[in-house]
Amino acid sequence: MTKSTTTLRPGVVTGDDLHVLIASCKEGNYALPAVNVISSHTINATLEAAAKAKSDVIVQMSNSGAQFVAGLGLQNALKGKILGAVAAAQHVHLLAEHYGVCVILHTDHANRKLVPWVDGMIDEGEKWFEKTGKPLFSSHMLDLSEDDLESNLSECSRVLKRLSAIDMSLEIELGMTGGEEDGVGADIDPDGDDSHLYTNPDDVLVAYETLSPLGKFSIAASFGNVHGVYKPGNVTLKPEILANSQAKVRETHNTGPNPLDLAFHGGSGSAKEKITEAIGYGVFKMNIDTDTQFAFATAIGTYVEENPRAFRYQLDPDDGTPYKKVYDPRKWLRKSEESFRGRLCQAFEDLGAVGKSIAG
Ligand SMILES: [Zn+2]
Repeated sequence: MTKSTTTLRPGVVTGDDLHVLIASCKEGNYALPAVNVISSHTINATLEAAAKAKSDVIVQMSNSGAQFVAGLGLQNALKGKILGAVAAAQHVHLLAEHYGVCVILHTDHANRKLVPWVDGMIDEGEKWFEKTGKPLFSSHMLDLSEDDLESNLSECSRVLKRLSAIDMSLEIELGMTGGEEDGVGADIDPDGDDSHLYTNPDDVLVAYETLSPLGKFSIAASFGNVHGVYKPGNVTLKPEILANSQAKVRETHNTGPNPLDLAFHGGSGSAKEKITEAIGYGVFKMNIDTDTQFAFATAIGTYVEENPRAFRYQLDPDDGTPYKKVYDPRKWLRKSEESFRGRLCQAFEDLGAVGKSIAG
């Protein structure tokens, strides 16, 4: 496959442009990392990595990541989660185009108790849309995979109608991603029945038939993927479930190949060939959080180990050496940004995205 000839303006992509970008990923057989961010440091490191890899990228926030952006000192947690997401989105809107790549702005898992968070962000999105004529976010996620299919899809339908009205898209979850992330997720019982960790293609067909008339949506389908890094062998990755889901919709509705836009959660530690296989079945988005968190942390750890006295004394008690230039938070946060960027560049490689930006 060759690089797409379609180009988009660099910056945040929404509406029809979002679907141009997703189509480019699927046609070009690559996926974009969806990077969980919690601060200007991690946002900027993400944009820097995308610019370096000449790839487009997905910037996303979990509910607690958004709250962290607003500041944990803010008393009203729900308000913090909403305002933090808006603040981070505005930061990205202002800066993304200057990094010369296309950026999808998205929010991560929202289960039943986090529906007010999503509705609050949509309220803010509606105000933004009224003011600018464009969406604030490209898409939100609603993860009601703990509900039965009917109640999952009925709430997704309600939210998708609101989103469609402001040119946004919705990511839903069918079947559960194993593990836990920011308080949302399912436990893994190594001896138990793990069928809930695998999406049923029949459910995917029902979701397609219910949601397609209402707007644009993508599906986080479960095929044995697990949040976090666990010992190998707990759950087996079965990307063929994605192929079966695509085939079910294609054959029933006589669509083109890979009619569904699929998201891959819990990809940390997955074998490269399983990732490539999943991309071939229509995965355009792979979440990354655990590995970039670790990269951010290890860089600070190393720096502290290398400069222990600067983290105990402003002036060295033996010889009076001033440590201001060493303990300046910009010094060690920059090390973390670089390490985060480095790990992310590896993700762009794994996903076949290097050099594929369609920003022009
Ligand atoms: Zn996830």
